[in-house]
Amino acid sequence: MTTTNRLGIYIHIPFCLRKCKYCDFLSFGYSDNKILEEYTRAVIEEIRIRSQDWHYREVDSIYIGGGTPSLLSQWDIGKIIDALRDCFNVLEDAEITIEANPATISDEKMEKYLAKGINRISIGVQSFENSILELLGRAHNKNDAFYSFQRAQKAGFKNINLDIMFGIPGQTMKMWKDTVRQCIFLRPTHISLYSLQIEEGTEFYKMMYDEGTLEPVMEVTDREMYHTAMSMMNTAGYKHYEISNCSLPGYESRHNMKYWSYEEYMGLGLGASSFLDGSRFKNCDRMIDYIAAIKGNVAPVDAGSVEKYSQKEEMGVYVFTGLRKVAGLDTEEFRKIFKGEFFNVFDEKLLLKYDGFLKYKDGKLFLTEKGMDISNKIMMEFL
Ligand code: SF4
Repeated sequence: MTTTNRLGIYIHIPFCLRKCKYCDFLSFGYSDNKILEEYTRAVIEEIRIRSQDWHYREVDSIYIGGGTPSLLSQWDIGKIIDALRDCFNVLEDAEITIEANPATISDEKMEKYLAKGINRISIGVQSFENSILELLGRAHNKNDAFYSFQRAQKAGFKNINLDIMFGIPGQTMKMWKDTVRQCIFLRPTHISLYSLQIEEGTEFYKMMYDEGTLEPVMEVTDREMYHTAMSMMNTAGYKHYEISNCSLPGYESRHNMKYWSYEEYMGLGLGASSFLDGSRFKNCDRMIDYIAAIKGNVAPVDAGSVEKYSQKEEMGVYVFTGLRKVAGLDTEEFRKIFKGEFFNVFDEKLLLKYDGFLKYKDGKLFLTEKGMDISNKIMMEFL
């Protein structure tokens, strides 16, 4: 772990309008707004409880994710931000992000977010093709996506991310290129591009593997979509800085960079993960347990989830996450953190084995563009 006094905070809001067919995140529908208000009160209590040991840390990023945080009223989001500022040392220039679903955005919410110091919004667009949005089970159409971007911009957001997705059954290259083009046309400061993964327990998994009503996308098509998009982004002035992320210069996500740079973060809310003081752990993921812990005035951590890795395992995590960055990982920083030479710990022959896919230059180890296609295979070599 790094030795700075900085800390990132993640807040999980697990509610959604409805479950998307591909989603395996910890999220679910809700029956009435009182549940959202009760959950907000619990999160605020958790902020108070967890801050007791960590209030001295300088919080330079806050990320309110989910689920769909924009489902909460602007007042509830305001209360969460106020509690964070009251209990933690939130820096003046902290990056504060909220995730929003286009179906849940209003002018009032945007204005309140900005008034509370939220300075970055991440909109889950996924596609600018209505048939694809319908297939995914999204609760919005392409016009909602456009309007939500325009609303955010009009309200005064200068830093906007759009999430888009490829490798979706039935999505043609033309549809994907159109989505990328529309995205570039809007000119957000940041674009995240994800390849659809079919996860067990989702509606898509059932459709693909039990019912046979969904065709898997060929690996070669998925990769072609990825490289086509990266090339279009590059031509439009976006910098590819992480496997799945591009930004205009200076707009890399500070919060996400923490995950890839071995920095500490505290997760608050249902099922949220933390990396603190060399330990990794998660909050309980059953609402009944989470609320009971808060009512008992204790941190809602799932005791069974606490993991303390060995030094060698931590080194592996450092490489695994660091290789996600296009700039790669810095072996000098590795030496400072782990007090050991990188190539005394890891076999230099891996460079030969993955010649053309993995490179070492000027103290940095990084994946080439080709290497990103087999990133998991290469990263696993270091675990
Ligand atoms: S909006 Fe996001 S978190 Fe909610 S169900 Fe859809 S993909 Fe999952």
